[in-house]
Amino acid sequence: MQLPDSIQFIERDWLSANHIMFRDHVAGDDVASIVDTGYITRADHTLAKIDETLAAWDHIPLIEIINTHIHSDHIGCNLAVLRAHPGCRIAVPSEEAPYLVNWDAPQQMLSYADQQAERFPWDETIEAGQTLMLGGETWQCIATPGHDMGSLVLYAPRLRALISADALWENGSGFVVPQALDPKPLAAQRATFKRLAELDVAVVLPGHGPMFRDFSGALKRAGEKLEAFAADDLRIARNVVKGMFIYSMNWRGTLDRSELVNYVKRVGVHRDYNAMFFHLRDETYAQWLLNEAERTGKVRVDGDVIVYID
Ligand SMILES: [Zn+2]
Repeated sequence: MQLPDSIQFIERDWLSANHIMFRDHVAGDDVASIVDTGYITRADHTLAKIDETLAAWDHIPLIEIINTHIHSDHIGCNLAVLRAHPGCRIAVPSEEAPYLVNWDAPQQMLSYADQQAERFPWDETIEAGQTLMLGGETWQCIATPGHDMGSLVLYAPRLRALISADALWENGSGFVVPQALDPKPLAAQRATFKRLAELDVAVVLPGHGPMFRDFSGALKRAGEKLEAFAADDLRIARNVVKGMFIYSMNWRGTLDRSELVNYVKRVGVHRDYNAMFFHLRDETYAQWLLNEAERTGKVRVDGDVIVYID
């Protein structure tokens, strides 16, 4: 899948979102920018990937970070990148700015979901409908509320390329919260798929997973998954808490088995979802969560310790 030399897709994993880097000629200088920075505990890897690309581009300066949305796997290394590249500007979707002012609100799914990120300063906001020049291409900013209500994706009509963040992956999309908690995200995600389906897309650069070409197939698969969840709020709730626990285990690596009951009492998403959807005693919920996580093959119990399996 060939992108212009001025656009570099850097695939990461499920802990860190993918990066897209761009080379541009601005006011006589060659400069670089990056979409999304990855999860904080993998900052060394993010910085190394950036350096690799900048080196291949004759060590041009990195002057801008653009975030698609404010989840920890997309903004987690903003400050680390800023430290390594002083003067780099940070642009966030305008709808996300209130959450950055009111840092770590439950909607950001940060400490509420046992995730971490460093608070960062931002220089500008990006509006849906605006265009950005990146990698010599014009990109339209499109609002894709649902998984995150302030999320933007970027679409380059000439390249027929879509930077889809967590609004669309090859086999699904980012989670939406249960309708009992808030009915807007699921309806918004449905509308987002409709909006995306209007685009002429030849290549998708997703927030997670490899680049892919089967845009209409991906939309169909993601739409079907969403409707299956829409019919069953409890299934959404189970999926969210399981996903959040596995994500936390991914960055933690280990957790003492004896800590788990305290953990589910302490971490907001587990405490609140259990109270609202599962109505289990903390001990029972903790054991259920662990069983569910083990069944995915991502987590196992090794003596007194719960271990993430890489
Ligand atoms: Zn996300």
